[in-house]
Amino acid sequence: YLTRLRLTEPQLHSFLHVPDDSAVLAEARELDRRIDGGEEIGPLAGVFVAVKDNICTADMPSTGGSRILQGYRPPFDATAVKRVKELGGIVVGKTNLDEFGMGSTTEGSAFQVTSNPWDVSRVPGGSSGGSAAAVSARQCVVSLGSDTGGSVRQPASFCGVVGLKPTYGRVSRFGLMAYASSLDAIGCFGSSVADAGILLHAIAGHDKFDATSSKQDVPNFLSHFVSESSLGSKPLKGLRVGLIHETIDDGVDSGVISAIREAALHFEELGCSVNEVSLPSFSLGLPAYYILASSESSSNLSRYDGIRYGNQVFADELDSLYGNSRAQGFGSEVKMRILMGTYALSAGYYDAYYKRAQQVRTIIRNSFKEALNQNDILISPAAPSAAYKIGEKKNDPLAMYAGDIMTVNVNLAGLPALVLPCGFVDGGPAGLPVGLQMIGAAFDEGELLRVGHVFE
Ligand code: GLN
Repeated sequence: YLTRLRLTEPQLHSFLHVPDDSAVLAEARELDRRIDGGEEIGPLAGVFVAVKDNICTADMPSTGGSRILQGYRPPFDATAVKRVKELGGIVVGKTNLDEFGMGSTTEGSAFQVTSNPWDVSRVPGGSSGGSAAAVSARQCVVSLGSDTGGSVRQPASFCGVVGLKPTYGRVSRFGLMAYASSLDAIGCFGSSVADAGILLHAIAGHDKFDATSSKQDVPNFLSHFVSESSLGSKPLKGLRVGLIHETIDDGVDSGVISAIREAALHFEELGCSVNEVSLPSFSLGLPAYYILASSESSSNLSRYDGIRYGNQVFADELDSLYGNSRAQGFGSEVKMRILMGTYALSAGYYDAYYKRAQQVRTIIRNSFKEALNQNDILISPAAPSAAYKIGEKKNDPLAMYAGDIMTVNVNLAGLPALVLPCGFVDGGPAGLPVGLQMIGAAFDEGELLRVGHVFE
């Protein structure tokens, strides 16, 4: 993995920080010694894990992809990172992202643009583009990302890997730089469903440092996996699969729709019943998400004031110190979100935007609940297109936002979703991967993983 990392990184730029090989190897040797000494290490013993750079690590910089945190080293590990290390995982570096997770291409990083390993002239998706590209190019075994509106699932789709967004509250957010706290989730990338499931199992569960982390038991997600030889001819017999009608409609690439329809046929071969379900509120997700996410971020990002964290641009007046530090520290997308969010929350507009978006959120949550009463899982594309060219949507934020249509509803409803490769469309030297999104009931990650494992 280290050799591949060194070999591919000059083309891909997945990482913002990689420790010396010697440091990584020393950790691995130390684990070897402990294992030789008869110690039980854990299911991640010696597994190379990459970590998105908005997740805090005590021994490596954590910038969130923002100039305002350039050089910042947190004094602690995020709970997810701490658990990975406790179970023997070795952190091989911090991955690139859109600044503070705001974006869908990883072009919004203050530091570098990451390329898609399937075609280096294309984006890897975002905002966890570095984590997705790193797994896709086998620079690491698994990686951590964050998903506020699709940032694990859409890059998984673009890079042809598995991406898992857990139920809201399943994984502690302690040490994840807050973007939109009611939507944020730490998620997992792997090159197989089992890999993503093992990583989720490692990081899931209640944490006293995050009051919104759930006390629900963490079952052994992989216990329902059966070996390929004992699958039988209809291993998913009786499973009710709902294909969300609004996601295979106008505005979605025809190649993507064909791949999803083929996936639906594959589900039928495996013994499932597949029916189209309509979620009439589906298209309301995008405006509601962008109002709520911007509102929450405008509040969360007020902590970057040039005093408590990161870079300071000094001025004689305190207000100018704040202003200068933020003006120079934040990139344009982040500033736009702060402006939109502050506007939506302002006294005169609160009812028209923020409150209304909250009402829409309730409608969406209810409609998913109803659809999941009639179906065991819901399926859709993970994105309306495959990976597009670097620069293609850089100056058209609305076009970029529109690409999040498949994923944002899941965050608004707080549900778990698994994305896995299901086909290809033409493009690049070898075709471009298409991802299938499977949405499950809250805290039912085990079922998603079981179904995903059979499907792949
Ligand atoms: N692209 C979406 C946004 O910019 C989602 C980002 C995310 O999930 N972090 O807000």
